[in-house]
Amino acid sequence: MARHRHGLATLFLVLSVLGLGATIGVDGASESRGALAAPGGVETALGQLTGLVGAYLMMLMVVLTGRLPVLERALGQDRLVRWHRRIGGWPILLIASHAVLVTLGYAKMDRTGPMHQLGTLLRSYPDVVAATVAFALLVMVGVTSYRRARRRMRYETWWLLHLYTYLALCLAFPHQLADGQSFVGHPLTRIWWSAMWAATVGIVLVYRVGLPVWRSFYHRLRVVEVSEEAPGVFSIICAGHHLQRLNVSGGQFFSWHFMTRGLWWQAHPYSLSALPRPPHMRVTVKDLGDHSRSLADLRPGTLVAIQGPYGAFTPEARSQNRVLLIAAGVGVTPIRALLEDLPPEVDVAVVLRASKSEDLIFRDEVVSLVAQRRGQLFELIGDRSAVPTDTAALVSLVPDLRGRDTYVCGPEGFSQQIVSSLRAAGTPAERIHHEGFTF
Ligand SMILES: Cc1cc2nc3c(=O)[nH]c(=O)nc-3n(C[C@H](O)[C@H](O)[C@H](O)COP(=O)(O)OP(=O)(O)OC[C@H]3O[C@@H](n4cnc5c(N)ncnc54)[C@H](O)[C@@H]3O)c2cc1C
Repeated sequence: MARHRHGLATLFLVLSVLGLGATIGVDGASESRGALAAPGGVETALGQLTGLVGAYLMMLMVVLTGRLPVLERALGQDRLVRWHRRIGGWPILLIASHAVLVTLGYAKMDRTGPMHQLGTLLRSYPDVVAATVAFALLVMVGVTSYRRARRRMRYETWWLLHLYTYLALCLAFPHQLADGQSFVGHPLTRIWWSAMWAATVGIVLVYRVGLPVWRSFYHRLRVVEVSEEAPGVFSIICAGHHLQRLNVSGGQFFSWHFMTRGLWWQAHPYSLSALPRPPHMRVTVKDLGDHSRSLADLRPGTLVAIQGPYGAFTPEARSQNRVLLIAAGVGVTPIRALLEDLPPEVDVAVVLRASKSEDLIFRDEVVSLVAQRRGQLFELIGDRSAVPTDTAALVSLVPDLRGRDTYVCGPEGFSQQIVSSLRAAGTPAERIHHEGFTF
């Protein structure tokens, strides 16, 4: 399974690089020596190239976060979002270079000044005004996604602003076909580029909009019960139809819309804390902010819409038949569901970490699941100095940990420290699976 995922990840990378190569090739094919030698030829050619590559990377970024099920399962949303972020600054930089270089190139060609040429481009070239608005939107999205800026705003504000990326994609497309040297008079490249653009928009419409809406109507989930599991931690049990048809693995999460005033428009990710038991499924939430806190007051009967399942933190990620599960705090939710979903032949060791015993969530359920499969359970309770989780401590608990696939979920600092300890103990990186609760 792990090998299959690796293969899919490699295939996706290869296709992305081939797409980039084809984009550069299409641009190169439309250049002639004569055009390059003419005044402003080099600037114009570079401007076309940077514009096309920037637009291609934009499409790639949208596909990465397009919730394509095959990518979600193979790579996991956190990794896809990481790649999306890594590419992030490039399209803006390239499209800015495109605007500057094309303006300079055309100005040289027309023997005029850049400002005068900019005015001509905006007034006389088809769809350039729309493309300029698209660029301004992209800059706004880029600036608000910059780590420091993002930290200062509410997640929901950032998310709403991010939706303007789709508007930018639509506004920029007509000028690419109408003004791009690679497309004007080249029907084949027009078809190829339009097909890529349509596929990108199609992925968004199908997987980010259509499928979640269809699933929500099909499963018709409603809240049936809200119960306190530990101080500030609540389980929400929903009932729905056909839940056996949800192709969900232990460790996966959904984005949840609870259809009440003030919450219906927000989608927040919460992992299932147990495998669905039709007609019921359960999430367990710690009150960390406005949304999670308000879930404690949900009334039975509240309608629920879902997007998902998402995530690669599943039994399929492992390559070994021995597994170590490590959870702290509310991080136990996906770990508890994973424990239930691992095949019976898998040898399991579980480490639960909490400062106080009353903070251990699902202790009884974990004890019973571990006992059923004759696994080992270690409860590490107390403050960090008294109960360390460094390399020596982990090796003394689970001496064969290097040979196990390890799944870690907990607060970011805890997870990072565990991952470093596992690496120091010699666990290969590909056997460490980590679910972060923040994107
Ligand atoms: C894959 C995944 C699975 C998760 N599973 C669980 C779970 O089972 N139980 C649980 O209690 N928590 C879980 N979380 C965390 C949970 O989504 C956040 O705590 C919750 O969204 C916080 O929202 P808030 O308005 O209450 O708090 P805020 O104060 O708005 O946010 C607190 C933190 O959560 C982040 N956050 C807020 N909204 C979102 C969002 N829509 N998407 C991603 N991050 C967001 C913020 O950036 C901030 O770091 C999970 C998160 C992820 C990414």
